[in-house]
Amino acid sequence: MPKLNENYLNLKASYLFSEIAHRTAAYKEANPEKGAQIIRLGIGDVTLPLGKVVIDALHEGVDAMATSETFKGYGPEQGYEATRNAIADYYKRNGVEVDPGDIFVSDGAKSDTGNITDLFGHDNVVLVPDPVYPVYVDTNIMAGNQVTYMAGNAENGFLPMPDKSQHADVIYLCSPNNPTGACYNKEQLKEWVDYALANEAVILFDSAYEAFITDPELPRSIFAVEGAKKCAIEFCSLSKTAGFTGTRCGYTVVPKELVFTASNGEEMSLNAMWNRRQCTKFNGTSYIVQKGAEVVFSDEGIKECQENINYYKRNAKVIADTMTKLGIRFFGGINSPYIWFECPNGMESWECFDYLLQNIQVVGTPGAGFGENGKNYFRLTSFGNYEKTVEAMERFEKLFK
Ligand code: PLP
Repeated sequence: MPKLNENYLNLKASYLFSEIAHRTAAYKEANPEKGAQIIRLGIGDVTLPLGKVVIDALHEGVDAMATSETFKGYGPEQGYEATRNAIADYYKRNGVEVDPGDIFVSDGAKSDTGNITDLFGHDNVVLVPDPVYPVYVDTNIMAGNQVTYMAGNAENGFLPMPDKSQHADVIYLCSPNNPTGACYNKEQLKEWVDYALANEAVILFDSAYEAFITDPELPRSIFAVEGAKKCAIEFCSLSKTAGFTGTRCGYTVVPKELVFTASNGEEMSLNAMWNRRQCTKFNGTSYIVQKGAEVVFSDEGIKECQENINYYKRNAKVIADTMTKLGIRFFGGINSPYIWFECPNGMESWECFDYLLQNIQVVGTPGAGFGENGKNYFRLTSFGNYEKTVEAMERFEKLFK
Protein backbone atom coordinates (compact mmCIF):
# COMPACT_ATOMS: atom_id res chain seq x y z
CA MET A 1 0.00 0.00 0.00
CA PRO A 2 1.46 3.41 -0.88
CA LYS A 3 2.09 5.85 1.93
CA LEU A 4 -0.15 8.79 1.15
CA ASN A 5 0.38 12.50 1.52
CA GLU A 6 -1.75 12.65 4.62
CA ASN A 7 -1.50 16.41 4.69
CA TYR A 8 -4.56 16.19 2.45
CA LEU A 9 -6.46 15.06 5.53
CA ASN A 10 -5.82 18.52 6.97
CA LEU A 11 -7.57 20.33 4.13
CA LYS A 12 -10.95 21.80 4.91
CA ALA A 13 -13.65 20.60 2.53
CA SER A 14 -14.02 23.20 -0.20
CA TYR A 15 -17.76 23.46 -0.27
CA LEU A 16 -18.20 27.18 -1.02
CA PHE A 17 -19.18 27.05 -4.69
CA SER A 18 -20.87 23.66 -4.48
CA GLU A 19 -22.95 24.86 -1.54
CA ILE A 20 -23.91 28.01 -3.45
CA ALA A 21 -24.93 25.86 -6.43
CA HIS A 22 -26.82 23.47 -4.17
CA ARG A 23 -28.79 26.20 -2.36
CA THR A 24 -29.53 27.99 -5.64
CA ALA A 25 -30.75 24.81 -7.33
CA ALA A 26 -32.93 23.90 -4.33
CA TYR A 27 -34.50 27.37 -4.36
CA LYS A 28 -35.17 27.14 -8.11
CA GLU A 29 -36.83 23.79 -7.72
CA ALA A 30 -39.07 24.96 -4.91
CA ASN A 31 -39.85 28.32 -6.60
CA PRO A 32 -39.71 27.82 -10.37
CA GLU A 33 -41.19 31.22 -11.21
CA LYS A 34 -38.98 33.29 -8.95
CA GLY A 35 -36.09 30.94 -9.68
CA ALA A 36 -36.25 32.08 -13.30
CA GLN A 37 -35.52 35.64 -12.11
CA ILE A 38 -32.20 34.76 -10.47
CA ILE A 39 -29.31 37.13 -11.19
CA ARG A 40 -25.83 35.79 -10.47
CA LEU A 41 -23.38 38.32 -9.11
CA GLY A 42 -21.20 35.71 -7.48
CA ILE A 43 -19.05 34.53 -10.31
CA GLY A 44 -15.34 35.25 -10.39
CA ASP A 45 -15.19 34.43 -14.08
CA VAL A 46 -15.29 36.89 -16.94
CA THR A 47 -18.26 36.81 -19.32
CA LEU A 48 -17.27 39.00 -22.29
CA PRO A 49 -15.66 37.26 -25.29
CA LEU A 50 -12.03 37.73 -26.31
CA GLY A 51 -11.31 40.80 -28.41
CA LYS A 52 -10.76 40.69 -32.17
CA VAL A 53 -7.04 41.44 -31.99
CA VAL A 54 -6.52 38.42 -29.73
CA ILE A 55 -8.80 36.16 -31.77
CA ASP A 56 -6.92 37.06 -34.97
CA ALA A 57 -3.59 36.28 -33.30
CA LEU A 58 -4.92 32.96 -31.99
CA HIS A 59 -6.03 32.09 -35.54
CA GLU A 60 -2.54 32.94 -36.79
CA GLY A 61 -1.15 30.58 -34.18
CA VAL A 62 -3.45 27.81 -35.35
CA ASP A 63 -2.52 28.39 -39.00
CA ALA A 64 1.18 28.19 -38.12
CA MET A 65 0.57 24.66 -36.88
CA ALA A 66 -0.77 23.65 -40.32
CA THR A 67 2.43 23.70 -42.37
CA SER A 68 5.75 22.03 -41.70
CA GLU A 69 7.62 25.33 -42.26
CA THR A 70 5.81 27.12 -39.47
CA PHE A 71 4.80 24.22 -37.21
CA LYS A 72 5.88 24.47 -33.55
CA GLY A 73 6.61 21.57 -31.29
CA TYR A 74 7.79 21.92 -27.70
CA GLY A 75 8.57 25.53 -26.98
CA PRO A 76 10.82 27.03 -24.32
CA GLU A 77 9.57 26.11 -20.83
CA GLN A 78 9.96 29.76 -19.82
CA GLY A 79 7.84 31.04 -22.69
CA TYR A 80 8.69 32.36 -26.16
CA GLU A 81 11.02 35.34 -26.26
CA ALA A 82 8.37 37.43 -28.05
CA THR A 83 5.84 36.85 -25.24
CA ARG A 84 8.37 37.59 -22.50
CA ASN A 85 9.50 40.76 -24.29
CA ALA A 86 5.89 41.87 -24.73
CA ILE A 87 5.28 41.40 -20.98
CA ALA A 88 8.49 43.28 -20.09
CA ASP A 89 7.36 46.07 -22.38
CA TYR A 90 3.94 46.15 -20.66
CA TYR A 91 5.72 46.58 -17.32
CA LYS A 92 7.81 49.36 -18.82
CA ARG A 93 4.72 51.25 -19.94
CA ASN A 94 3.51 51.05 -16.37
CA GLY A 95 6.80 52.55 -15.19
CA VAL A 96 8.48 49.34 -13.98
CA GLU A 97 11.67 47.77 -15.35
CA VAL A 98 11.55 43.99 -15.49
CA ASP A 99 14.19 41.84 -17.18
CA PRO A 100 12.47 39.54 -19.74
CA GLY A 101 14.82 36.81 -18.43
CA ASP A 102 13.06 37.03 -15.06
CA ILE A 103 9.63 36.38 -16.64
CA PHE A 104 8.19 32.87 -16.81
CA VAL A 105 5.08 32.42 -18.95
CA SER A 106 2.65 29.82 -17.68
CA ASP A 107 -0.89 28.50 -18.01
CA GLY A 108 -2.13 30.86 -15.31
CA ALA A 109 -1.57 32.33 -11.88
CA LYS A 110 -3.37 29.53 -10.06
CA SER A 111 -0.74 27.00 -11.11
CA ASP A 112 2.16 29.30 -10.27
CA THR A 113 0.85 30.54 -6.91
CA GLY A 114 0.16 26.89 -6.10
CA ASN A 115 3.43 25.43 -7.38
CA ILE A 116 5.69 28.01 -5.77
CA THR A 117 5.68 26.00 -2.52
CA ASP A 118 8.12 23.66 -4.33
CA LEU A 119 10.85 26.25 -3.72
CA PHE A 120 10.47 26.43 0.04
CA GLY A 121 11.16 24.15 2.97
CA HIS A 122 8.69 23.23 5.65
CA ASP A 123 9.73 25.17 8.75
CA ASN A 124 8.93 28.62 7.48
CA VAL A 125 6.66 31.15 9.09
CA VAL A 126 4.16 31.55 6.25
CA LEU A 127 1.94 34.62 6.56
CA VAL A 128 -1.37 34.59 4.73
CA PRO A 129 -4.08 37.23 4.94
CA ASP A 130 -7.55 36.23 6.10
CA PRO A 131 -9.85 36.59 4.15
CA VAL A 132 -7.92 35.29 1.19
CA TYR A 133 -7.90 33.51 -2.18
CA PRO A 134 -8.00 29.93 -0.85
CA VAL A 135 -5.22 28.56 -3.10
CA TYR A 136 -2.42 30.02 -0.92
CA VAL A 137 -3.69 28.25 2.17
CA ASP A 138 -4.57 24.89 0.62
CA THR A 139 -1.29 24.51 -1.27
CA ASN A 140 0.66 25.14 1.91
CA ILE A 141 -1.44 22.61 3.78
CA MET A 142 -0.87 20.05 0.98
CA ALA A 143 2.86 20.64 1.37
CA GLY A 144 2.62 20.08 5.12
CA ASN A 145 3.31 23.70 6.03
CA GLN A 146 1.85 25.65 8.91
CA VAL A 147 0.11 28.89 8.00
CA THR A 148 -0.08 32.00 10.17
CA TYR A 149 -3.03 34.23 9.43
CA MET A 150 -2.98 38.02 9.34
CA ALA A 151 -6.38 39.48 10.04
CA GLY A 152 -7.96 41.69 7.44
CA ASN A 153 -10.85 43.66 8.89
CA ALA A 154 -12.75 46.92 8.61
CA GLU A 155 -10.23 48.64 10.93
CA ASN A 156 -7.27 48.00 8.61
CA GLY A 157 -9.39 48.29 5.46
CA PHE A 158 -8.77 44.57 4.79
CA LEU A 159 -5.13 45.46 4.19
CA PRO A 160 -3.10 43.77 6.93
CA MET A 161 0.23 45.47 7.63
CA PRO A 162 3.41 43.89 8.99
CA ASP A 163 3.68 43.22 12.69
CA LYS A 164 7.30 44.15 13.30
CA SER A 165 7.41 42.14 16.53
CA GLN A 166 6.71 38.95 14.58
CA HIS A 167 9.18 37.20 12.25
CA ALA A 168 8.06 35.86 8.86
CA ASP A 169 9.80 33.92 6.07
CA VAL A 170 7.17 33.74 3.35
CA ILE A 171 4.44 36.37 2.94
CA TYR A 172 1.46 36.16 0.59
CA LEU A 173 -0.07 39.46 -0.53
CA CYS A 174 -2.80 39.96 -3.09
CA SER A 175 -3.58 43.45 -4.38
CA PRO A 176 -6.14 44.32 -5.68
CA ASN A 177 -7.44 41.66 -3.37
CA ASN A 178 -9.71 38.76 -4.02
CA PRO A 179 -12.20 38.69 -2.30
CA THR A 180 -12.12 42.13 -0.65
CA GLY A 181 -11.21 44.38 -3.58
CA ALA A 182 -8.86 46.29 -1.25
CA CYS A 183 -5.71 47.66 -2.82
CA TYR A 184 -2.38 48.53 -1.15
CA ASN A 185 -0.90 51.94 -1.85
CA LYS A 186 2.80 52.49 -2.46
CA GLU A 187 3.63 53.48 1.13
CA GLN A 188 1.95 50.37 2.46
CA LEU A 189 3.78 48.13 0.00
CA LYS A 190 7.03 49.89 0.92
CA GLU A 191 6.39 48.93 4.53
CA TRP A 192 5.97 45.31 3.46
CA VAL A 193 9.13 45.42 1.36
CA ASP A 194 11.14 46.95 4.22
CA TYR A 195 9.77 44.35 6.61
CA ALA A 196 10.59 41.51 4.19
CA LEU A 197 14.13 42.81 3.67
CA ALA A 198 14.65 43.15 7.43
CA ASN A 199 13.39 39.59 7.97
CA GLU A 200 15.13 38.13 4.89
CA ALA A 201 11.65 37.03 3.90
CA VAL A 202 10.14 36.62 0.47
CA ILE A 203 6.86 38.27 -0.57
CA LEU A 204 4.67 36.29 -2.96
CA PHE A 205 2.72 39.08 -4.60
CA ASP A 206 -0.40 38.21 -6.58
CA SER A 207 -1.34 41.01 -8.95
CA ALA A 208 -3.92 39.08 -10.99
CA TYR A 209 -6.26 42.09 -10.88
CA GLU A 210 -3.71 44.83 -11.60
CA ALA A 211 -5.47 45.83 -14.83
CA PHE A 212 -8.43 47.06 -12.77
CA ILE A 213 -6.33 49.74 -11.10
CA THR A 214 -7.14 53.11 -12.59
CA ASP A 215 -5.86 55.34 -9.78
CA PRO A 216 -2.41 56.38 -11.07
CA GLU A 217 -1.18 56.67 -7.47
CA LEU A 218 -1.72 52.97 -6.79
CA PRO A 219 1.07 50.56 -7.75
CA ARG A 220 0.15 47.87 -10.28
CA SER A 221 3.27 45.88 -9.48
CA ILE A 222 5.24 45.35 -6.29
CA PHE A 223 8.32 46.12 -8.36
CA ALA A 224 7.19 49.75 -8.40
CA VAL A 225 8.58 49.76 -4.85
CA GLU A 226 12.31 50.19 -4.38
CA GLY A 227 14.02 47.11 -3.02
CA ALA A 228 11.22 44.73 -4.06
CA LYS A 229 13.42 42.82 -6.51
CA LYS A 230 15.47 41.66 -3.56
CA CYS A 231 12.46 40.21 -1.72
CA ALA A 232 9.48 39.60 -4.01
CA ILE A 233 8.09 37.26 -6.63
CA GLU A 234 5.13 38.57 -8.63
CA PHE A 235 2.35 36.48 -10.14
CA CYS A 236 0.10 37.85 -12.80
CA SER A 237 -2.53 36.53 -15.14
CA LEU A 238 -4.24 37.30 -18.41
CA SER A 239 -7.47 35.87 -17.02
CA LYS A 240 -8.99 39.11 -15.83
CA THR A 241 -6.73 41.45 -17.83
CA ALA A 242 -7.72 39.96 -21.17
CA GLY A 243 -10.50 37.45 -20.56
CA PHE A 244 -8.18 34.43 -20.68
CA THR A 245 -9.91 32.40 -17.94
CA GLY A 246 -10.68 29.68 -20.50
CA THR A 247 -7.73 30.33 -22.81
CA ARG A 248 -5.17 30.06 -19.96
CA CYS A 249 -2.08 32.20 -19.69
CA GLY A 250 -0.26 33.86 -16.84
CA TYR A 251 3.26 34.93 -15.93
CA THR A 252 5.49 34.99 -12.93
CA VAL A 253 8.42 37.31 -12.34
CA VAL A 254 11.25 35.84 -10.27
CA PRO A 255 14.03 38.45 -10.12
CA LYS A 256 17.60 37.17 -10.30
CA GLU A 257 18.36 39.37 -7.29
CA LEU A 258 16.45 36.88 -5.10
CA VAL A 259 19.34 34.92 -3.63
CA PHE A 260 19.29 33.23 -0.22
CA THR A 261 21.87 31.18 1.65
CA ALA A 262 21.22 27.47 2.07
CA SER A 263 21.98 25.68 5.33
CA ASN A 264 25.27 24.39 3.86
CA GLY A 265 26.32 27.96 3.09
CA GLU A 266 25.65 27.72 -0.66
CA GLU A 267 23.87 30.60 -2.36
CA MET A 268 20.57 29.63 -3.95
CA SER A 269 18.86 31.75 -6.60
CA LEU A 270 15.07 31.53 -6.62
CA ASN A 271 15.13 32.37 -10.33
CA ALA A 272 17.40 29.38 -11.02
CA MET A 273 15.28 27.18 -8.76
CA TRP A 274 12.01 28.20 -10.43
CA ASN A 275 13.62 27.67 -13.83
CA ARG A 276 14.68 24.19 -12.76
CA ARG A 277 11.24 23.49 -11.31
CA GLN A 278 9.46 24.59 -14.48
CA CYS A 279 11.85 22.75 -16.81
CA THR A 280 11.32 19.58 -14.77
CA LYS A 281 7.55 19.70 -14.29
CA PHE A 282 6.16 21.99 -17.01
CA ASN A 283 6.51 21.86 -20.78
CA GLY A 284 5.58 25.40 -21.62
CA THR A 285 2.43 27.32 -22.52
CA SER A 286 1.01 26.44 -25.92
CA TYR A 287 2.37 28.40 -28.88
CA ILE A 288 -1.15 29.27 -30.00
CA VAL A 289 -2.05 30.74 -26.62
CA GLN A 290 1.19 32.69 -26.49
CA LYS A 291 0.43 34.19 -29.90
CA GLY A 292 -2.80 35.49 -28.40
CA ALA A 293 -1.05 36.59 -25.20
CA GLU A 294 1.62 38.53 -27.05
CA VAL A 295 -0.89 40.83 -28.73
CA VAL A 296 -2.72 41.49 -25.46
CA PHE A 297 0.24 43.73 -24.65
CA SER A 298 0.28 45.57 -27.99
CA ASP A 299 -1.27 49.06 -28.18
CA GLU A 300 -4.33 47.66 -29.92
CA GLY A 301 -4.59 44.73 -27.51
CA ILE A 302 -4.37 46.93 -24.44
CA LYS A 303 -7.04 49.22 -25.85
CA GLU A 304 -9.35 46.32 -26.61
CA CYS A 305 -8.86 44.71 -23.17
CA GLN A 306 -9.44 48.07 -21.54
CA GLU A 307 -12.85 48.30 -23.20
CA ASN A 308 -13.91 45.04 -21.53
CA ILE A 309 -12.44 46.12 -18.21
CA ASN A 310 -14.31 49.42 -18.47
CA TYR A 311 -17.53 47.46 -19.00
CA TYR A 312 -16.91 45.51 -15.78
CA LYS A 313 -15.86 48.66 -13.96
CA ARG A 314 -19.15 50.30 -14.90
CA ASN A 315 -20.91 47.34 -13.24
CA ALA A 316 -18.69 47.73 -10.18
CA LYS A 317 -19.67 51.38 -9.96
CA VAL A 318 -23.38 50.51 -10.10
CA ILE A 319 -22.88 48.15 -7.15
CA ALA A 320 -20.63 50.50 -5.20
CA ASP A 321 -23.00 53.45 -5.73
CA THR A 322 -25.90 51.37 -4.40
CA MET A 323 -23.93 50.51 -1.26
CA THR A 324 -23.02 54.15 -0.77
CA LYS A 325 -26.64 55.23 -1.22
CA LEU A 326 -27.81 52.69 1.35
CA GLY A 327 -25.04 53.52 3.80
CA ILE A 328 -23.72 49.96 3.71
CA ARG A 329 -20.03 49.76 4.50
CA PHE A 330 -18.05 48.24 1.63
CA PHE A 331 -14.53 47.78 0.33
CA GLY A 332 -13.20 47.54 -3.23
CA GLY A 333 -15.28 48.31 -6.29
CA ILE A 334 -13.10 51.13 -7.56
CA ASN A 335 -9.75 49.64 -8.51
CA SER A 336 -11.10 46.14 -8.44
CA PRO A 337 -13.89 44.01 -9.91
CA TYR A 338 -15.00 42.93 -6.43
CA ILE A 339 -17.30 44.64 -3.95
CA TRP A 340 -16.99 43.34 -0.41
CA PHE A 341 -19.76 44.63 1.79
CA GLU A 342 -20.69 44.24 5.41
CA CYS A 343 -23.84 42.09 5.69
CA PRO A 344 -26.72 44.42 6.66
CA ASN A 345 -28.67 44.03 9.89
CA GLY A 346 -25.94 42.02 11.62
CA MET A 347 -26.48 39.00 9.38
CA GLU A 348 -23.81 36.35 8.95
CA SER A 349 -22.70 35.74 5.38
CA TRP A 350 -24.64 32.51 4.71
CA GLU A 351 -27.71 34.07 6.27
CA CYS A 352 -27.24 37.02 3.95
CA PHE A 353 -26.89 34.61 1.02
CA ASP A 354 -30.25 33.00 1.78
CA TYR A 355 -31.89 36.36 2.47
CA LEU A 356 -30.81 37.79 -0.90
CA LEU A 357 -31.71 34.62 -2.77
CA GLN A 358 -35.16 34.34 -1.23
CA ASN A 359 -36.14 38.01 -1.30
CA ILE A 360 -34.58 39.40 -4.44
CA GLN A 361 -33.21 36.33 -6.26
CA VAL A 362 -29.66 37.69 -6.30
CA VAL A 363 -26.82 35.22 -5.84
CA GLY A 364 -23.49 36.35 -4.44
CA THR A 365 -20.63 34.78 -2.51
CA PRO A 366 -20.66 34.51 1.30
CA GLY A 367 -17.49 35.94 2.83
CA ALA A 368 -17.17 32.98 5.21
CA GLY A 369 -15.87 30.99 2.23
CA PHE A 370 -12.69 33.08 2.22
CA GLY A 371 -11.76 32.82 5.88
CA GLU A 372 -12.85 33.46 9.42
CA ASN A 373 -12.73 37.23 8.96
CA GLY A 374 -15.16 37.05 6.09
CA LYS A 375 -18.04 35.68 8.08
CA ASN A 376 -19.94 38.97 8.25
CA TYR A 377 -19.11 40.04 4.72
CA PHE A 378 -20.41 39.30 1.27
CA ARG A 379 -18.72 39.45 -2.15
CA LEU A 380 -20.40 40.70 -5.30
CA THR A 381 -18.59 40.73 -8.60
CA SER A 382 -18.77 43.00 -11.58
CA PHE A 383 -18.20 40.29 -14.20
CA GLY A 384 -21.87 40.00 -15.12
CA ASN A 385 -24.10 41.66 -17.64
CA TYR A 386 -24.66 45.42 -17.17
CA GLU A 387 -28.48 45.41 -17.43
CA LYS A 388 -28.70 42.47 -15.04
CA THR A 389 -26.34 44.19 -12.59
CA VAL A 390 -28.50 47.32 -12.68
CA GLU A 391 -31.62 45.26 -12.09
CA ALA A 392 -30.03 43.34 -9.23
CA MET A 393 -29.04 46.59 -7.57
CA GLU A 394 -32.54 48.06 -8.03
CA ARG A 395 -33.94 45.04 -6.22
CA PHE A 396 -31.22 45.34 -3.57
CA GLU A 397 -32.01 49.00 -2.99
CA LYS A 398 -35.73 48.31 -2.54
CA LEU A 399 -34.95 45.53 -0.08
CA PHE A 400 -32.67 47.52 2.19
CA LYS A 401 -34.18 51.01 1.90
N1 PLP B 1 -5.04 34.88 -8.16
C1 PLP B 1 -6.19 35.38 -7.71
C2 PLP B 1 -6.18 36.32 -6.57
C3 PLP B 1 -7.41 34.99 -8.29
O1 PLP B 1 -8.56 35.48 -7.82
C4 PLP B 1 -7.39 34.10 -9.36
C5 PLP B 1 -8.64 33.66 -10.02
O2 PLP B 1 -9.72 33.84 -9.60
C6 PLP B 1 -6.17 33.59 -9.78
C7 PLP B 1 -5.01 34.01 -9.17
C8 PLP B 1 -6.12 32.55 -10.86
O3 PLP B 1 -5.78 33.08 -12.06
P1 PLP B 1 -5.60 32.19 -13.34
O4 PLP B 1 -6.90 32.14 -14.05
O5 PLP B 1 -4.52 32.89 -14.10
O6 PLP B 1 -5.15 30.82 -12.93
